[in-house]
Amino acid sequence: MHPQGHQGAGWRPAPQQAPDWGAEAIAVGLALANPQLPLSSWVEFPSGRLLFSLPCYSCTAAPKIWLPASGFCVPLITHWPQHPAEDSVPIWIVLRFFHTCLSRAAAEMAASCRIKPLSRVAVCGGTHGNEMSGIYLAKHWLRDPMELQRGSFTVTPFLGNPRAIEKCVRYVGRDLNRTFTTEFLSSAEAEDEPYEVVLAREINQTYGPKGSAQAFDFMFDLHNTTASMGICLIVDSEESLLPMHMCHYIQMHYTRSPCPIYLYKLPGEETYSINSVAKAGLALELGPQPQQVVRADLFTQMRDLIACALDFIELFNKGTVFPAFEIDAYKITGCMDYPRYPDGEISAMVHPKLQDKNFLPLNPRDPIFQTFSGEEILYEGNTTIYPAFINEAAYYEKKVAFAMMEEHTFSIPGLQRE
Ligand SMILES: [Zn+2]
Repeated sequence: MHPQGHQGAGWRPAPQQAPDWGAEAIAVGLALANPQLPLSSWVEFPSGRLLFSLPCYSCTAAPKIWLPASGFCVPLITHWPQHPAEDSVPIWIVLRFFHTCLSRAAAEMAASCRIKPLSRVAVCGGTHGNEMSGIYLAKHWLRDPMELQRGSFTVTPFLGNPRAIEKCVRYVGRDLNRTFTTEFLSSAEAEDEPYEVVLAREINQTYGPKGSAQAFDFMFDLHNTTASMGICLIVDSEESLLPMHMCHYIQMHYTRSPCPIYLYKLPGEETYSINSVAKAGLALELGPQPQQVVRADLFTQMRDLIACALDFIELFNKGTVFPAFEIDAYKITGCMDYPRYPDGEISAMVHPKLQDKNFLPLNPRDPIFQTFSGEEILYEGNTTIYPAFINEAAYYEKKVAFAMMEEHTFSIPGLQRE
């Protein structure tokens, strides 16, 4: 980064013993309120200098406030509509500056967590052998790995379940993506155990072991759903700091479609997914796409989302400080089974009014099922929930008509590299 602006802009506050972030915010705001201030300018302030630059070094589309003395660095990118005029700073930038950034800067810096830079990242396609976007993407990257590479870390694509991919089925013996628990990973080898249990142990040896210092730093896992989910970002819980920051970054930079966050782990439950063998992970779930089919639109979205996420890791590794934020996410509370006859067969279908309404509110007494004789079955819960994976083909065998979620707003602390 090479600041090209001039120093001072004729403004210098009285020196102070310790940074007073409130006063600093006002002082810097006043300085920036000068409509003649060029866009790449240094402004002196009590604990250092502020660089207001456009474009910034980490994101060519967004301006950024950088406070060198503290290391605080925040992009001004929330709902950024257009580049402002070339030669001046509009007053509304100053307002955004106040409301979005500096009013919380000191607290965010104090609270930001430090994590080691990431050196080894894996991308898995075909954990389920009939979800074709991830399978063809992983095969594409295995032929041409350069597309995944960034400067500061390595990316290893791989196929999760080769035997299931060959047969174009979800799994051969049991669902691989429910097999990364202590029970299976630590079980003794047995002759009659499912193929996926053997496979899970191999994957754990290569990319884990789960919970160990040797594990890969991050794993992406690529899935498709037959449900109309659009793009869904799946994280184990809101406590996973790096993945939550990655989701936030994706939501701000991949703006062509909404990217809701699905927190899949029930309280007290052990993580069981393939990316849980790495130190952190993110699963992408894109739909609707029929099993065994690849759609170019979803394939392209998935490819772009991974590129965006890898850009985030590159920025993190290079020292960008990601400030604290608040974010909405959906947290699973349980699953709804289909109504059934006494012999176990389903007796109703997802109601037409619920079909395709993923992530939309479902209120008490709303219809959820329609029996084969045409009767409505209503939701009997007491509170509004947000369903997902509505009528997912692979979940009939799991006795899941849809997942039930609550919407929450979470406060995520800031993040920077060690
Ligand atoms: Zn899947």
